[in-house]
This record gives sequence, structure tokens and C-alpha cells, in this order.
Amino acid sequence: MLMHENQSGKESNTEAQNLKESLFMVKKNGLLQIDDKQIKDADEFCEGYKVFLDVSKTERESIACAVSMAEKRGFEKFDLNKKYKPGDKVYYVNREKSLIVAVIGEKGVKEGTKIVVAHADAPRLDIKPNPLYEANDLAMLKTHYYGGIKKYQWTAMPLSLHGKIIKKDGTNIDVRIGEDENDPVFCVTDLLPHLAKDQMSKPLQKAIDAENLNILIGSRPFRDDKDSDLVKLNIMKLLNEKYGIIESDFLSAELEMVPAFKASDVGFDRSMIGAYGHDDRVCAYPALMAVLDYNKTPKNTIMAILADKEETGSDGNTGMNSAFFRYFIADLSDMDGVEYRHVLTKSKCLSADVNGAFDPTYSSVYDPANSCYLNNGVVITKYTGSGGKYSTSDASAEFMAYVRGFLEQNKVLWQTGELGKVDAGGGGTIAKYMANLDVDVVDLGVPVLSMHAPFEVVSKIDVYMAYKAVSSFFNAD
Ligand code: MN
Ligand code: MN
Repeated sequence: MLMHENQSGKESNTEAQNLKESLFMVKKNGLLQIDDKQIKDADEFCEGYKVFLDVSKTERESIACAVSMAEKRGFEKFDLNKKYKPGDKVYYVNREKSLIVAVIGEKGVKEGTKIVVAHADAPRLDIKPNPLYEANDLAMLKTHYYGGIKKYQWTAMPLSLHGKIIKKDGTNIDVRIGEDENDPVFCVTDLLPHLAKDQMSKPLQKAIDAENLNILIGSRPFRDDKDSDLVKLNIMKLLNEKYGIIESDFLSAELEMVPAFKASDVGFDRSMIGAYGHDDRVCAYPALMAVLDYNKTPKNTIMAILADKEETGSDGNTGMNSAFFRYFIADLSDMDGVEYRHVLTKSKCLSADVNGAFDPTYSSVYDPANSCYLNNGVVITKYTGSGGKYSTSDASAEFMAYVRGFLEQNKVLWQTGELGKVDAGGGGTIAKYMANLDVDVVDLGVPVLSMHAPFEVVSKIDVYMAYKAVSSFFNAD
């Protein structure tokens, strides 16, 4: 180890300092470990990410955006009847809500694949199947929240409506209202503090009832003195004129309320990004870009998966607990004349998902030595779950060593972190579903402040390091 000398040429390091430098883990702000060029690269990379965030507020929008990016770079729709050769670039879309992009390797899938899996869904308010009603001359929509939210955070803020309505005759209607400057927005009302004496004394979890997350959507009645439900009628009339729908069409719709604001830089130094849905687009975007930017033929087939339904437990046929990924691997295996289970056994996976960044304002729920911090790079989370490591895949020491190895070799800024103190709560990721398929997997992602809030915060350096981490994984043995 190099000895540091001061101006007078006198040795400045004691023996203890030297030993510490060689034996202890580095505890230095990540920004002081990288050069200005990397900071500039990170800032540039994040400009693309912010655009992606603004056009991809739901899983369907994320997949549509990712597909158009992939097509622009020569990726072609996966075709079962085709024989793929090394270097071929394909994408596979599952029901508009999950996506696999892959580059076929020199060895195909015979010796396993390299997989990065992130998710493209995020917590939000879903519109109920029969949502529209009128109360005291106001028109409202009933909602059912999706994923883990703190309900009080979703009141009294502008919301936009996204999704799809499929009419009985099969007509597809894409809905996106509240994102353009001239669009109206929607909101959940909240009680004025003057009359909230009872509400304010309730525990946070009970202060806002889930059935009170109703969306205000109109207040002008259809002009008729005799009838009832005239505000509702007026709204239905407007929707019919705009989309040609009738009330029962809500039954065959997937409509979602999300925050109406755009991604912005956070801080005087613009070092962070605040936005809706960093979890998990902050991993989905770098994972996708690492595949799209891959400019040679990989040894083994590489792929990024953007999955749906992670926030509700990965069930459903677009989530990672379904068979769609296994079937895709089986199709590639058939083309190479190998058993898909042998391919899975030899495959390696990064489950790219966020972790809760240490928040000094709420420091009591974190173990400082085993938490991830903003600006210290991508975080490896050996296990998630809760209690005594329930409901988690605990990555092996062998796989941890493998991941550490390629991260350090490629000078990727990285750190390790658990999700908070033991027994402080808990959470899960997609990792266990990959592990259940006999794939080696560990969670690797970006630290987030205010996770699952309508406005989450990440560091630009960490986003870029996620991209570098995935790229290094694809290049590693
Ligand atoms: Mn997540
Ligand atoms: Mn989440």
C-alpha cells in the first residue's frame, strides 16, 4: 500500500492507519471515489432516465416505451419458427405488461444464461370495476389501492389517469389524462384540519380509510331539472363523446391513478432525481439499457426482464411467479436442443430491485453498518424477507463472491445493505421466484428515499452505477 506523504515529506500514516486501509471496508462517500468524468456520464445517463419515467408511468406504458427503444436498436419480435444465431437481438412481450429483451450468445443457452430482472409496476390507485357514482352533486370514482402505500400520502395531490378500456366489441382505447400541461387532473380530497380532530388522533394507518380514496372527477350537472344523478350523467356523456364508452365498459378496463407530476432534479446540486415510480423503473431502465447498449456477441445469451405484479406479490400471468419466463427459456432451449431445466440450473440472475436508503430523519429503523446510502453506488441485498429470514432467497456466499468480483474488477461503486433493522418490518422481491427455478440470484439495485411514496428520491450516481453493474455482469464469466 502506498504511503502518503505531506508537504514536508514527513510520513503521515501511522501503522494502525495503514493496517486499517488494508483490512477495513472503505467508508468514504462514493462521490469522492469516482472522477468528474463519471459524474458527468451519470448526469447524462439520468437525462434519458427522466424521459423514460415521464412516458412510462404504468407497466403497460413502460413496456410500450421499452419495445419502441428496442426496435430502434434492431431488436426483433421473438419468433418461435425462427432459428436464431449468435448476436441476434430479440424481444418477447407478455400481454403488454411484461417484457424480455435478449441478445443470443455464442453458445446460445447451452451453458446457461445471464438474466437481469426488474419490475415495471409501481404502487398506485386502481379504479374499481364499477367505479362511477355521484354524491351530493359531485362525481367520483371508487379506487382499490395497488401495492404497499401509506394511504395518507395519496390525498390532496394532482393525479393523472392512465390505462386501457376494451369495449365489448374488442375496441382498444388508450387513456392518458393529466400529463399534458393543458389536461385536467384529478384528486382524492382530504379533511380540513379545522374539522379533523377525530381523524388527527387516529394512528396513521387508520387516518385514511381505503374506501375514502375516492377520486373527484366532476361537479357540473347535465341540464335537467327533474332527474337525479345528473353530474354522473354529465360525466358519462363526456366520456361517451370522447371514447364512445358506456358505464359497463369500466368492467373491461384497467385504469390507474398515478401522480400527475414529472420527474425533477432534487437539490441545489441537482444530484438526485425525485419522481413517481422509481421502484422499480430505476432498475428497469438501467437493466434495459445495458442490454440495448450491448454491442458485441455475448458468450452466453443475456437478457433483461421487465416484469409486472411485483408490488402485489408477483402472482398473475404477467408476474414472475407465472410460467411465462420458464416457457421463454424452454423455447430457446428447444432451439438449441437442450433441456430447459439444465439451462436454468446453469443460469445466473441479478434481481434488480430497489432497497430503502438510510434516512437520517428516521435513523432508528436502520442498522447503520448494514444499510445502503445515497451516492454510495448500487446496493447488493443478500436477502430480503422479514423476521427470521422468512420469504426470501438468501444468496449463497459463492454467488456473493462472484458478484463482488465483477463489480470490483469493473470499478463499479457498490455497497451492501439489508432492508432496515431486523424485525423493523420487511419486504420481498422477485429474487425468490428466480431461486425457485434453480437459478443463482441476488438482489442488486438502487437505494431509494421515501420508497413507495408518490415522490421517491434516488441519486444520479447510483442510477448510473446500476447500469454499469448490469453491463459488467453481462461481460463477466
Ligand atoms: Mn421493487
Ligand atoms: Mn416496491
